[in-house]
Amino acid sequence: MGPPPASFTASARLLLRKLRGLMAEDIGAQERLDRIVAMIASTMVADVCSIYLRTGAEEMELSATEGLDRSAVHTTRLRKGEGLVGLASTSAKPVNLSDARHHPAFSYRPETGEDPYQSFLGVPILRGGRPLGVLVVQNRAQRHYAEDEVEALQTTATVLAEVVSAGNLLAEARFGDIETRLSRPEQLDGRVFVEGLAIGRVVMHAPIAPPQALFSDDPVREEQRLVDALAALSADFDAILTDVGPRAPGIVRDVMETQKLLAEDTSWARRLIEAARAGLAAEAAVERVRNEHRARLQNARDPYLRDRLQDLESIDNRLLRILSGAVIDRNSLPEDAILVARDLSAAELLDYGQGAFLAVLTEEGGPTSHAAIVARALGGPFIGRLPDLLRHVEPGDLVLVDAEQGRVHMRPNIEIVASFRERVAMKQAARAEFALIRNEPAVTLDGRRIHLMLNAGLSMDLDQLADSGAEGIGLFRTEFQFLIADSLPRLSDQIALYSQAIDKAEGKPVQFRTLDLGGDKVLPYLHGEREENPALGWRAIRITLDRPGLFRRQLRALVAAAAGRELSVMFPLVANFAEFDAARALLEKEADWAERMGKPRPSALRVGAMVEAPAFLWQIPALKDRAQFLSVGTNDLMQYLFAADRANPRVADRYDILSPGALSFLRATRLAAESAGITISICGEAAGHPLEAMAFIALGFSNLSMPASSIGPVKRLTRSLDAGCAAGAILPLLSSPEASLRPILLNLAKEFGAMI
Ligand code: PEP
Ligand code: MG
Repeated sequence: MGPPPASFTASARLLLRKLRGLMAEDIGAQERLDRIVAMIASTMVADVCSIYLRTGAEEMELSATEGLDRSAVHTTRLRKGEGLVGLASTSAKPVNLSDARHHPAFSYRPETGEDPYQSFLGVPILRGGRPLGVLVVQNRAQRHYAEDEVEALQTTATVLAEVVSAGNLLAEARFGDIETRLSRPEQLDGRVFVEGLAIGRVVMHAPIAPPQALFSDDPVREEQRLVDALAALSADFDAILTDVGPRAPGIVRDVMETQKLLAEDTSWARRLIEAARAGLAAEAAVERVRNEHRARLQNARDPYLRDRLQDLESIDNRLLRILSGAVIDRNSLPEDAILVARDLSAAELLDYGQGAFLAVLTEEGGPTSHAAIVARALGGPFIGRLPDLLRHVEPGDLVLVDAEQGRVHMRPNIEIVASFRERVAMKQAARAEFALIRNEPAVTLDGRRIHLMLNAGLSMDLDQLADSGAEGIGLFRTEFQFLIADSLPRLSDQIALYSQAIDKAEGKPVQFRTLDLGGDKVLPYLHGEREENPALGWRAIRITLDRPGLFRRQLRALVAAAAGRELSVMFPLVANFAEFDAARALLEKEADWAERMGKPRPSALRVGAMVEAPAFLWQIPALKDRAQFLSVGTNDLMQYLFAADRANPRVADRYDILSPGALSFLRATRLAAESAGITISICGEAAGHPLEAMAFIALGFSNLSMPASSIGPVKRLTRSLDAGCAAGAILPLLSSPEASLRPILLNLAKEFGAMI
């Protein structure tokens, strides 16, 4: 990388030095801004320098000027997006024009007296990617501002963003409408990934450079810090890529390789180093570049571009963490932290650990993503797909997380807070009520015994077995251990987790599901090329049957963990009898092998399958005497029944499981299992929703498996339901033409007094 042009370094450094002097003086906010614009105009040899700041109504108010008519200050306002100032703000990019008045966005404001000025350079004042205002210089003569001048002005704007958001502006009446911090109540709607309610304060997952670290006295040292941090970043990527392994060009590897390339891009590094040479501290230099990436990301609609910008932001964040020496410091989080991020991986959430935050909010993500599953295990509500979330919140904002309705209230007024607190209290009361019935059986009013089991997958889920009063583990998702690891878990790791599950169950049944990878659960060290339709592709039992080494190792671990006790194992996404039989044969081989090696054989082998591929319904008779149990995975079954990708928000919610078609299918499955003498349960998310559970009980299902938080509500429903009555009312509806029976079932529940 060559040295930056001397002029840039010199002019930016000069500006920063003078700015620093002005900030140290004990003067009022207006005077400070006035002197800043005068200083910039003279240093940059501009005829005009002005600062426009954003008001609460998203207008831009002329807040200080050198060169324009001063009477326009605090009077001239531009609507959102109006004029060249609005363009710089909404595009979050510099606007550099030699003939401003002929630009289509030009908006003429006679009161400012700007007629004589032909050239215009406006740069956004960004903080956390959010535009706080625009810094403008203008000249009489037609000229195109050189790149180093644009850079110098942008660097100055970074510092100004801190000056403005440090906030003593608000104390002065003239700045009454200026919004240096977001202050109005707002609400955003997203998608519930994990249900629950929480009240707390925003903590940004991505670090913000602290304002006191803006300037540096020693540019040489800051440059060296950046060079070292960049080298560490590159080494980080090398280490990750080595771990991931060369034979696995999966999605994670693609992302990592792209990020490594971007991290080694000399133009990015040059921009950072230029900013440090100009006098910014290394962290502030990264912040300056990150702000631009963020602002552009927020405006990008093209998914490819968004991905690239997201990669860039992710490496900015990594670099900032390396510089600050902080990985993730869960101890520095306040007790009521609401974690806010553009997106979060399962591993990042696990780094925070249990109890570190109250809830998670993200712009991206999916409800069945691993991060959502981990958040559920950590016990916090989670709302994702909140559009432009990062633009709407700031660190420290009070937020109400309503992960029942999928709504976030930001900076709410006290009435909303009061009514929300009431709901939280009601929830707590309900929890207390659930605790009272924890050890009571789930029996319907007409005496039908329903068995409520737990869905688990991480060792931290296991404590919930006793806490929730579940009767066992109906679904143990073994792939989670693989998903949160950087490389294939060893045989001993697998044995340890499985035996922990059996031990903690204390004799209650544990139904292990063998590896259900593929679809949205991609392992970098296992997957090959990307697939066109991953949900219909190489996943679950298809992978394990094709990789007998991997599969047998897991089955061996399961047999070893049973250590002579009963073992229940089921296979995911089985589509025909042959797949089931092949998998079962491998399990039996492992049990035989253990015996031959003088190790204990499970006292009983219970073998099962998930009903997820619709075609499997017609193979159930063939399972007679071959399978001991079946479990319906409604998440997948629904996507295959209705041909609607469960991870695609456009179609995932289009069809209702409470529809005549889906319920008829479930009923037929239950009847087929019964005829074959096979126990059947439902373990998809729907089993944990009381209204759906009511329908399933009416269809004759007596075993339901669900997340721990659903056990109480579903038990309460069961104990308030007359199952016979419900069946009598619901079965005739299976031939109705309704797309969804939900409204009818809601009314029926009310009529029966069933507590949903
Ligand atoms: C299901 O598909 O309903 C299921 C329980 O499996 P998973 O959600 O893990 O795919
Ligand atoms: Mg499934």
